[in-house]
Amino acid sequence: MAHRITDECTYCGACEPECPVSAISAGDSIYVIDENVCVDCIGYHDEPACVAVCPVDCIFKV
Ligand code: SF4
Repeated sequence: MAHRITDECTYCGACEPECPVSAISAGDSIYVIDENVCVDCIGYHDEPACVAVCPVDCIFKV
């Protein structure tokens, strides 16, 4: 399980510093989640930190 960022990403960068396991990085045109690193925030937050801050709701659970 992991989360994924869609093409709707506006490259705002709000999610990157919120991830407790540093799974998010800036890609070429959108931010990208390393699905081998993402832990769905289990053990860190009640809801995924990136989803909570994304202003355009472009992050979904894979
Ligand atoms: Fe990081 Fe949590 Fe988002 Fe996964 S769900 S990328 S662990 S902030």
